[in-house]
Amino acid sequence: MNAPIPSPNLHRPRPHVAVIGAGPGGLASAMLLAASGARVTLFEKDGVVGGRTRTLTTPEGYRFDLGPTFFLYPRILREIFSSCGAELEDEVALTRLDPQYRLIFEGAQQAVLDATADADRMEAAIGALAPGDVQGFRRFMSDNRRKLEVFRPVLERPFLSHRDMMAPSILRSLPQLRPHRQVDQDLRRYFADPRVRLAFGFQTKYLGMSPFRCPSLFTILSFLEYEHGVFHPRGGCGEVSGAMARVAQRLGVDIRLNAPVDRIAFNGRRAVGVEAGGTRHAADAVVLNADFAHAVPRLVPDHLRKDWSDRKIGQARYSCSTFMLYLGVEGQFPQLAHHNVLLAEEYQRNIHQIQAGEIPDVPSIYLQNPGATDASMAPEGHSALYLLVPVPNLRSGADWAAEAPRYRRLALERAKLLGLPDLESRIRYERMVSPQDWQDEFAVGYGATFNLSHDLMQMLSFRPRNRFNDTEGLYLVGGGTHPGSGLPVIYEGARITSRLVQQELALQAVPA
Ligand SMILES: Cc1cc2nc3c(=O)[nH]c(=O)nc-3n(C[C@H](O)[C@H](O)[C@H](O)COP(=O)(O)OP(=O)(O)OC[C@H]3O[C@@H](n4cnc5c(N)ncnc54)[C@H](O)[C@@H]3O)c2cc1C
Repeated sequence: MNAPIPSPNLHRPRPHVAVIGAGPGGLASAMLLAASGARVTLFEKDGVVGGRTRTLTTPEGYRFDLGPTFFLYPRILREIFSSCGAELEDEVALTRLDPQYRLIFEGAQQAVLDATADADRMEAAIGALAPGDVQGFRRFMSDNRRKLEVFRPVLERPFLSHRDMMAPSILRSLPQLRPHRQVDQDLRRYFADPRVRLAFGFQTKYLGMSPFRCPSLFTILSFLEYEHGVFHPRGGCGEVSGAMARVAQRLGVDIRLNAPVDRIAFNGRRAVGVEAGGTRHAADAVVLNADFAHAVPRLVPDHLRKDWSDRKIGQARYSCSTFMLYLGVEGQFPQLAHHNVLLAEEYQRNIHQIQAGEIPDVPSIYLQNPGATDASMAPEGHSALYLLVPVPNLRSGADWAAEAPRYRRLALERAKLLGLPDLESRIRYERMVSPQDWQDEFAVGYGATFNLSHDLMQMLSFRPRNRFNDTEGLYLVGGGTHPGSGLPVIYEGARITSRLVQQELALQAVPA
């Protein structure tokens, strides 16, 4: 049953919150703050909601997710909906995928692993690759179940100062988290075969990181998939953003599209409103969801930011970027699963190249074929294919106007290994998004599609804080703040940020 929405205190004016950006973090915050009695205005620069989590539709009838395609761990968003008097599953049809994805290991003998949450089938699949690793699966699951329990308090609380790192719950969690070990090292405790380790470690790519560098606590990413499932929202992940906007509007949120915020207005260090289209909108608190590296230097004066000055933002470490092809294609492809990941034979070299700012010459690729599950994504007899290639962000200095045509050819060549020999001749619609486009069109700083990287010195209190450092009345939400990037984590971050705003404005906390 849905929790009742607290009624606002009628004896005082409702505090006004301005939210900048209708990405997943902005939408979730707007919902929660409106449900707790605030008057919320959400300013979105584009003509649609969802940010990177939107679905592109073409006149020909193809639908493509722009960014996220793996919808994981719906529990958090389900709880947010229910705090707001709605049911996630009434608003969006979610299908749990089985297999949740197909991994293709390139090599002299190409091997395939269909990842499934069915433990018996998963053990059989691992056994077919590496018989010695079968026992590791259930051990991995039970250890990571414990790890997530220990880590949950860290994910659910804000870090407002470095002192918060010394909180008892954090200190207790440290030994379990093995902070100085990396994902691949940790996986060696369960799996000897590097391909099996990759099957449980490639998910660090969701954070734009490599399993050889990413802190070991992120083995919980693959655990979450097996434990709680990988879902496809019917019509694409943008449908989830659309549903969030509907619920927000029912709660009275004023969503203004095509309304870029030009500046946050300050009185001293206190944010007191936003300026959009030449008009000043006063606010008791401002929640910034726009990409951190792109928006903060533009919207918050540098002299107010000691911890995150322009210089520091310029020197921070950022995730990789992605080169994207969205292809409307004649025909259907039963040889493909819904999610297909081709792991390059020289996966490690591939990753080193990205870290070194080189564009990989033999890249791994990810291909989504949503028609395997959802006929609404393309006209009958056609497919809407989404092809993603991890590449360095714009810090590499690459000239994508020159690189893109060559890289398109390479990506299509690589797709042949997934059983698509004549893909190019079947293309009826095509759109390309390069790292430069992520920055110029989608306002993603350095084209780093997964925000600041998640190394230990950019996490917890070292990450830009939910109550933004050195200012008052300004809050962050989204992949650039704590707890980090990836939809479930961003939704959790929206809960953290909203609670802080609720406390400051003496709003009623909505039941979780
Ligand atoms: C290619 C790709 C694949 C991904 N795959 C997955 C996946 O499978 N699963 C997963 O969980 N996560 C995935 N992610 C990561 C992440 O979940 C998404 O990027 C997510 O959309 C980030 O949410 P956000 O809240 O940070 O806001 P964003 O999506 O970045 O939205 C920010 C919003 O702010 C708006 N804005 C910017 N400047 C202004 C301004 N001045 N005024 C008003 N509005 C402004 C933007 O237009 C945008 O709408 C993927 C990301 C990318 C790019």
